[in-house]
Amino acid sequence: MLRELVTALLMIVMVVFTSPTGEMADNPVVKINQPSLSQGQTLIVKIENAASRPEGTFLDQSLKFSKYQNGWLVFFGISYWTEPGEYPINIKFVNGTEISQTINITKGNFKESYLTVTEEQQKIVQPTEADQEIIQRKEADNELIAQAYSQSEPVPLWSEPFIRPVEGHVTTGYGFTRYVNGKVNNRHSGLDIANAAGTPIYAVNNGIVRLAENLLVTGNTTIIDHGGGVFSSYAHQSELLVQAGDVVQKGQLIGKMGSTGFSTGSHLHWVMRIGSAYLNPDYFVGRDLIHDAEIVIP
Ligand SMILES: [Zn+2]
Repeated sequence: MLRELVTALLMIVMVVFTSPTGEMADNPVVKINQPSLSQGQTLIVKIENAASRPEGTFLDQSLKFSKYQNGWLVFFGISYWTEPGEYPINIKFVNGTEISQTINITKGNFKESYLTVTEEQQKIVQPTEADQEIIQRKEADNELIAQAYSQSEPVPLWSEPFIRPVEGHVTTGYGFTRYVNGKVNNRHSGLDIANAAGTPIYAVNNGIVRLAENLLVTGNTTIIDHGGGVFSSYAHQSELLVQAGDVVQKGQLIGKMGSTGFSTGSHLHWVMRIGSAYLNPDYFVGRDLIHDAEIVIP
């Protein structure tokens, strides 16, 4: 009886010492969403069974893993500026294990978009040296925007798929090369959805409002931080119905469609962004991203 008790106690001690912190053994499993992605899509890396935060690099940037449930998670946005090709993702664990995988990036299907505007409007996006007031206002706006995108909750604030923020028809797609009065202006950073002025705009997922301001180019603009480095932005609104710091739920009314700022008619310019990359908003609709990373890499 005593011997059995001692044996049982020894076994408990052994189990405790094999796993001193009570956490899972470090035998990491790495999962990604897709080994081949096109410009504007998102690489998702999920790691299970790793007690300590791993380190990783992709496209010369370090991967900022967030703690998520029993593992780690990172979302990496692939910009329309990233050259198509094969790029390695490297992940290093505290126990010395290293995992590498090649990610293939393909060209996005981007077209051209031509806008004709008045000279007054053209100055807003293509100011000359004489337009000092516009230049200074844009600098101040850019500072506000940069600040809004600089703080993201470390953990994703959502658990359900993203939704479309508004009803309407798409007038200009994501990533299009935009010409203003015949001159190349930039890439179109989001999706333009047109409908009547006043059409309600809803938060695409749970988050925290980081900016709700009238800006020169994007008019009445809202930026929402969804956590994990994922942001959404809503431009040209007629009315802002939330304030910076507000916690919003998926589907919550946040504003109304309008034509404020650099705009030729009532529409929503909807942006999804991770890090410094503007992403294809359509890619998010119907996905929660978290459960999309199911391919185990060796
Ligand atoms: Zn737009």
